[in-house]
Amino acid sequence: MQQQYDPGMNPAGANEIAFMNQLRSTFDQLPNDIDLYLFTAPGMDDVFAQSIRQVVRAFREVTDKIRFREFGLDHDMAHTYGVTEGPTLLVSPEQYNISWMGAPMGEEGRTFLELLIFAGLGRSNLSEQSKKMMARLDAPREIKVFVSPTCPYCPQEAVNGIQAAIERPDLVSLELIDIQCRPDLADQYQAHSVPQAYANDVLIGKGAQQEEVFISSMLALEAQTIFIPDSDAELVETDLVVVGGGPAGLSAGIYAERSGIKTVVVERDALGGQVATTPIVENYPGFPQIGGKTLVDIMVTHALQYVQIFKGEEVLSIEPGDLIEVKTTRRRFKTKTLLLATGASHVHLGVPGEERFSGRGVSYCATCDGPLFKGRKVFMVGGGNSAVTEAMHLKHQGVDVTLVHRRDTLRAQEVLVHQLKEAGVPILWNTEIKAILGEEKVNKVEVFNNQSGETATLDADGVFIAIGYTPTVELARKAGVELTEEGYIQHDDKHRTNIPGIYSAGDVEGGYKQIVTATGQGSSAAMTIFEDLINPYWKEKAALESA
Ligand code: NAP
Repeated sequence: MQQQYDPGMNPAGANEIAFMNQLRSTFDQLPNDIDLYLFTAPGMDDVFAQSIRQVVRAFREVTDKIRFREFGLDHDMAHTYGVTEGPTLLVSPEQYNISWMGAPMGEEGRTFLELLIFAGLGRSNLSEQSKKMMARLDAPREIKVFVSPTCPYCPQEAVNGIQAAIERPDLVSLELIDIQCRPDLADQYQAHSVPQAYANDVLIGKGAQQEEVFISSMLALEAQTIFIPDSDAELVETDLVVVGGGPAGLSAGIYAERSGIKTVVVERDALGGQVATTPIVENYPGFPQIGGKTLVDIMVTHALQYVQIFKGEEVLSIEPGDLIEVKTTRRRFKTKTLLLATGASHVHLGVPGEERFSGRGVSYCATCDGPLFKGRKVFMVGGGNSAVTEAMHLKHQGVDVTLVHRRDTLRAQEVLVHQLKEAGVPILWNTEIKAILGEEKVNKVEVFNNQSGETATLDADGVFIAIGYTPTVELARKAGVELTEEGYIQHDDKHRTNIPGIYSAGDVEGGYKQIVTATGQGSSAAMTIFEDLINPYWKEKAALESA
């Protein structure tokens, strides 16, 4: 039954009802029933099994399309489907070979919803390019995707695996493995960062991959980095392409569409940029304290009311002109204007062992990988807001964390420094990590005290690095956009770059790198674009020059 909206109700309640009604209608339209078989060891009643039952019960209140059965590991059905460990959830096992080892909690709730919808639809919804590649598959692929409920990048990689298993059930099997539920498997595969994807026990992807990159990696049994689409990819005409779905890009999308500018946002990774992995945000007005990912979800839900977002799609090239041509991994755009809101990416320490142990104890995302290090000893490198916030997050997750800073004062805001002290996180002052050591994974770090000149080798299970960000300007540079000496996009106070019709906003511009400044830059860039589309400044300039 549809719930009714009561005008006296608070907006959050109204949103929830709208969501439930939308969910009901989505499930009503699914052509297939969905079988969920949960296998547990006799007497098993751990948090994962309980959570699976709870989530499934909640979905069954929305739809009668889900059939749920539970079996012991000693039951014939466990033998039939080759299930030996619990809890394991099989999804429509008559049609697909998809098993879930964990529970649809946190970020994985999104993955679970998509899994139910794809299984109910009975089709993968892969892009045409991906389907063509999948049609060429002629040998089995056993995919494993390691995920964690706190990792905002994980659903993208998990959904890649789900779509592949649904597209070719004859050859592709999928295991979704929550590292908290199956730390034994994470250890066996040395999966010490999430997401990580394997096919036939070969590592095919670390981090979230775009769909086509995942599919080509799975086919090649080797991690690929780029996918070049066919030249006959779909052509879309629009007024504004926003490259990047962080706070700047999303705000620009909202403002532009509300001004009547036909806009699309293209994002290759997780929406929200750095905010998505910020444990807690305490300085975004209106939200005294909010999880970074929750803030992103609110922004994305708001943006989706106005603007179309192409997620998991990478912009490959930008060709300036009267109409700017943009080529992505899925389609081509012809657009009157383009906004570069490409943000920034992690700075690397550049010490021996960092690259080798990336994903094997070296991490740049405490929210994603923190759960893997519960009860273990890690070092957090950096002295800015990120390092301090993330060190506290690790501490609260039960990780034995020590901050390592190269100076004797922290750069982080006073309020955060105070909270760090309160949390009791030890700090190694004037200390630099010179090497990260180990065999299969990190087991030691070599540290250097730049005051005493002493070096020491300390036991470590992990090294988290949060030493700032470097602007993502590869695309801009290739398109001929001028950069500042520091490598940020050169722009005027209206966010115009040197190329007519191309603008910038957010961390890629340099200056204050705060969520609130990024949203401000995104919205003011959109307003400039609105003015320029009505009255293109470059035409005026050209007319003046020719006069
Ligand atoms: P950041 O403010 O640039 O700080 C980087 C830290 O890493 C500094 O302490 C720096 O040391 C250290 N560092 C840099 N290179 C290093 C190296 N090679 N070896 C060892 N240490 C190194 O970066 P961030 O903390 O990632 O923050 C980025 C931006 O986001 C900032 O503008 C920040 O305010 C913002 N942010 C805000 C919040 C918030 O408001 N809640 C949260 C996160 C980030 P020195 O101090 O010696 O230079």
